[in-house]
Amino acid sequence: MEVELRGVSKAFDGTTALQPIDLTISSGSFTTLLGPSGCGKTTLLRLIAGLERPDRGSIRIGDKLVFDAERGIYMPPQQRELGMVFQDFALWPHMTVYENVAFGLKARGRGKEASAQVARAIEAVRLQGFEKRYPHQLSGGQQQRVAFARSIASQAGLILFDEPLSALDALLRDEMREELVQMVRELGVTAVYVTHDQTEAMSMSDTIIVMRQGEMLQRGKPEDIYHTPVHPFVARFVGRSNWIEADRQLVRPEHVQWTAQPEARTFTGVVTRVSYLGDRYEVTIKLANDSIWTAYHHERIAIGDQVQVAVAKQHIHSLESA
Ligand code: ADP
Ligand code: MG
Repeated sequence: MEVELRGVSKAFDGTTALQPIDLTISSGSFTTLLGPSGCGKTTLLRLIAGLERPDRGSIRIGDKLVFDAERGIYMPPQQRELGMVFQDFALWPHMTVYENVAFGLKARGRGKEASAQVARAIEAVRLQGFEKRYPHQLSGGQQQRVAFARSIASQAGLILFDEPLSALDALLRDEMREELVQMVRELGVTAVYVTHDQTEAMSMSDTIIVMRQGEMLQRGKPEDIYHTPVHPFVARFVGRSNWIEADRQLVRPEHVQWTAQPEARTFTGVVTRVSYLGDRYEVTIKLANDSIWTAYHHERIAIGDQVQVAVAKQHIHSLESA
């Protein structure tokens, strides 16, 4: 289910939440909107869902034109055939797992054919045997899966996720990331996923769209976003970055070498902080030009040590813009 936005913008009470956006989300992809709180991720998702109306532009989902400002077209959410999963799961506490999953279907008057679809959805999220339980009898991860089952029961080709894992504790969140991506793949649906967590975005997505202040700054594969950011904000927001300010250049910590090599730029500095990460040490270095850099070291190194580091030229990335 391809999604296409053309010139879509939105303001609330005269304040811009979303600048005009052109975006095509390809069918079957897992696309993540990544950015800090308030940058417009939820707004963009709600515009696709039909929970908000854009001020301008048009939105197409599959072959349906669901919104067109100029032609006065607006299709309400229930006609858009999409699923939504939110952070708070929004399960009905007085309904069983089965009833919660079936709820969306009944609301659309499809009661008769619902049972097979509900059973398939419950199977897809691996909750067989839990049909008669109530939400309070489930773990956080299981509740999240019920919410997901509800969104897929209607066999929508498009599922929108708004920070669905952020209420879970860290360990469970890691597990659910993997499971969720796998379930989405198995279903073959198009997923648009919102998060402010760069690790989550990197590990789950085919495509990441980095947003800031209602604007899309960069769109690309996780690897491209990390290695070739087009904007300093993207470089800072995604992973750790070391700056060569004078030349508007960027170096990732894993490319900082501890020996001076030929064919490399070298930098001198003083170690100001060392933290143990389990598999290695993260070392903060204050360079001679006052820049603060991060590098990794395989053994402990002393604070106050004078060090020389080097970066191979192919690992120095230049930012052209802004
Ligand atoms: P995000 O999901 O990235 O945190 P939002 O899309 O929720 O960001 O918000 C983007 C901007 O729009 C924020 O400045 C927010 O305060 C504003 N906003 C969002 N929804 C409303 C609303 N219903 N009324 C007024 N302002 C809103
Ligand atoms: Mg939000």
